[in-house]
Amino acid sequence: MANEELYIGCHVSMSGPEYYLGSVKEALSYEANTFMFYTGAPQNTIRLPLERLRIEEGRALIKSSGLDESKIVVHAPYIINIANKLNVDTYELGKKHLLSELKRTYAFGPKILVLHPGSHVGTGEENGLESIIEALNEVLSNDGTDVKIALETMAGKGSEMGTSFEQLAYIISHLEKPERVGVCIDTCHINDNGLDVGDFDTILKDFDKTIGLNKLLVVHVNDTKNPMGAHKDRHENIGYGFLGFDILNKVVHHPLLKGIPMILETPYYEGNPPYKKEIEMFRKQSFEDWR
Ligand code: FE
Ligand code: FE
Ligand code: ZN
Repeated sequence: MANEELYIGCHVSMSGPEYYLGSVKEALSYEANTFMFYTGAPQNTIRLPLERLRIEEGRALIKSSGLDESKIVVHAPYIINIANKLNVDTYELGKKHLLSELKRTYAFGPKILVLHPGSHVGTGEENGLESIIEALNEVLSNDGTDVKIALETMAGKGSEMGTSFEQLAYIISHLEKPERVGVCIDTCHINDNGLDVGDFDTILKDFDKTIGLNKLLVVHVNDTKNPMGAHKDRHENIGYGFLGFDILNKVVHHPLLKGIPMILETPYYEGNPPYKKEIEMFRKQSFEDWR
């Protein structure tokens, strides 16, 4: 699997008894050559000590399978919200957990941590931006790692931040260490937020102009259950949503995105993971009606 230009995988679980070793095995079972995982449950910040997570065995399997560890991605827990510092408890907790996730990511070996920029919860966009910048500056001056944070483009539910390239560019350009922060584009989220993924060339042009293409660290490849601009954020299996296979296939194989990890976060179908099939379809560049 070495020397491939397409790095494609999906989110995998990291649960016991095999923990990280199980994550790598799961990814390999889908014939993925990268993957994304949470270092604990996505929705909370309860985290097992690193010694119990079979990290060395997982890394050994990564190596012996020829996977490139630098393409593997960690996702920070959803409940971190660093976009509202008026809620002091949530804000302090968010910074603490973000710091801890950076250190944990480093201990596992990957170099990219995806983070939702957070919600301003009624304090306004300007406040949201300043809160995020302040928190990132504080955390990145303390963590002692070289892990990069990839701020995810969000669907625009409620008061979510990260809903425009301009916002993300503003955040990054006001950081003390801008080199430590990039972006994760989620195709479902940008569609739901009103961008036309069918005209992906224009999206990339805008991205390059406002943020810089070198800042694109990860792509989340998802179809969507909702039309453009719905502000919903409900993922759909590849080819079964409003985007469809051809549009997403163009994203996955876009010549400007060579080497960028492509991560599926599509839903299980009738209790089964769709990833082996979806990865195969993108490798073959042809859709197959499997549902
Ligand atoms: Fe996410
Ligand atoms: Fe995502
Ligand atoms: Zn989503």
